[in-house]
Amino acid sequence: MRALVAALFLVVGCAHHNVYNLPPRTTRVMFSDAPPAGYHQALAEAMAWWGKHGQTMAEVDGDSDAFIVVRGEADWKYSDDVLGLTIHANGRGVIFLNEYALAQPDSCPVATVIAHELGHILGQEHVNDPDDLMYYSCGKRSHLD
Ligand SMILES: [Zn+2]
Repeated sequence: MRALVAALFLVVGCAHHNVYNLPPRTTRVMFSDAPPAGYHQALAEAMAWWGKHGQTMAEVDGDSDAFIVVRGEADWKYSDDVLGLTIHANGRGVIFLNEYALAQPDSCPVATVIAHELGHILGQEHVNDPDDLMYYSCGKRSHLD
């Protein structure tokens, strides 16, 4: 089953050059505050996924290209069903994560949401394929491997 998933991915990768054929670069990412338990690991998984697709990423303490801001329920300003979003400001990306929604049992994994938002940091837009990381919804793309 694992091999089948990997093979499927290869096909998806070939069909979406916008996601997988980016020029090599290194992206530095940091959390704006100490994140909830598991989020550092989720970021590591998301960075590893992009590493497999030619994008080197590193979590740093300062001088970052992208901040990750985690917001709880009371501080989430956007629609409840938005798990994460990315804005660009002053040459940096800011990723907001909906901690409350991501903590629900049927939510998309945090690592998948971070990987998707990192795609936006890299300049990627949404695609129509539900199997692709850059689909607008977690959809069928509910894990990283
Ligand atoms: Zn998106």
